[in-house]
Amino acid sequence: MDQAWLIGGLLGLIVVVGLIFWRAAARKKQEGKVTSLKKYRRHAAKLQPCSYCRKKSAPLAFYADQQGKVIGVCRNCKPIAERQELMRM
Ligand SMILES: [Zn+2]
Repeated sequence: MDQAWLIGGLLGLIVVVGLIFWRAAARKKQEGKVTSLKKYRRHAAKLQPCSYCRKKSAPLAFYADQQGKVIGVCRNCKPIAERQELMRM
């Protein structure tokens, strides 16, 4: 009887520790995404080719695609990104 209680307690502890690690990892992932986005924006300040037609034209509109990748599109290609329902940034 005592042993069962101990095992139950241990299992509970493992679940709690697992949850803490999982949340920390999820947060780390999110932060990484934000930093890369900031870096991308700084990089994008320079004249950059459009992700679709490769023409260098400013200003580009920035969208995040389904994979979370940031793409920059020129005014001409904006309707393409909009049609794909990409998230505007
Ligand atoms: Zn374009």
